[in-house]
Amino acid sequence: MAKRFEDDWKPQTRLVHGGTLRSPFGETSEALFLTQGFVYETAEAAEARFKGEEPGFIYSRYANPTVDMFEQRMCALEGAEDARATSSGMAAVAAALLCSLKAGDHVVSARALFGSCRWIIDTLMPRYGIETTLVDGTDLKAWEGAVRRNTKLFFLESPTNPTLEVCDIAGIAGLADSIGARVVVDNVFATPLLQKPLELGAHVVVYSATKHIDGQGRCLGGIVLSDKAWIDENLHDYFRHTGPSLSPFNAWTLLKGLETLPVRVRQQMESAARVADYLAEHPKIARVIYPGRPDHPQADLVKRQMKGGSTLVCLDLKGGKQAAFAFSNALRIIRISNNLGDAKSLITHPATTTHKNLSEEARAEAGIHQGTLRLSLGLEDTGDLIADLDQALSKV
Ligand SMILES: *Cc1c(COP(=O)(O)O)cnc(C)c1O
Repeated sequence: MAKRFEDDWKPQTRLVHGGTLRSPFGETSEALFLTQGFVYETAEAAEARFKGEEPGFIYSRYANPTVDMFEQRMCALEGAEDARATSSGMAAVAAALLCSLKAGDHVVSARALFGSCRWIIDTLMPRYGIETTLVDGTDLKAWEGAVRRNTKLFFLESPTNPTLEVCDIAGIAGLADSIGARVVVDNVFATPLLQKPLELGAHVVVYSATKHIDGQGRCLGGIVLSDKAWIDENLHDYFRHTGPSLSPFNAWTLLKGLETLPVRVRQQMESAARVADYLAEHPKIARVIYPGRPDHPQADLVKRQMKGGSTLVCLDLKGGKQAAFAFSNALRIIRISNNLGDAKSLITHPATTTHKNLSEEARAEAGIHQGTLRLSLGLEDTGDLIADLDQALSKV
């Protein structure tokens, strides 16, 4: 890949300036190209553009200047050669998984997944003749044991939703390379700032941009990033002809979100670390899982693989569902909602919402109990948040 001048910039600089395409008006803020199509000066120009002989935009399902800026800024941040932005995080996951697979292929996936990701692996793929095996993602031996002669792809999320387990991305990528398979990492919980899957050897990274990248609860979006050869060979045609494209309006919103991402993630992570320490000492809490704490089950791996903990905390209340509901209902600042990475602090009861479709047994395997809650820290004052948690716990 040719070196771009952006390559020398630190992430914060890339997030403000990376990928900017200025129109002839020289606008400071990125332009919103809310257009479905583009006009050609001549019929010959249209022919040349369709043939790929001349650069330029054709149709916003394929590419759009505002969407392009978002893709390029994400590439600059992630250190990826190429990317395709999608209408939602799930469109990104579905595209990244399905674009390169065919009937007869085998996929190994970590068991602890976002509910819709799990549906693609468990229900959708087998319907099209793709074999799948679920493993304990934190156990490298389990990945190795699941490999078959037709294994083509490994899929994982790290840290996982909602229990914040961490998988050894470099170890899994090494195993994949040894059998010629690809590793796709859903990096939503880590954000592009705290973990770099491509540097760790993964081949493809996907995001729900709905989460920290927008970070203000305004719109849905997603993105798939990889090397140019993989995108050209697998994603390019799939993307053009199945149409999961991101709206230019949402791309513009997400571009503006990227400018403030490091400031927001830093503040949310500091709050999460302080809240995790507070909760860990509370007598009504059975367990706190936070990737920045020394009692995290994969604390050493967190240190090796991540630049920081998380903006989320997972907690188990003593007293099961009744206690979890009473606690959630008593909160005044922290709201009950299933988004994460938002400016507003949000709490979710996974067993009855995001993970309700799993059997009780599958939930237990994933470490999700009736007293489990997932807390996403927002941008409020940390002291106010701890006071809110404290008064709500006193009512349980
Ligand atoms: C939210 C989320 C998704 C899906 O993203 P949407 O933008 O809601 O479609 C996928 N993976 C993880 C880990 C998520 O948190």
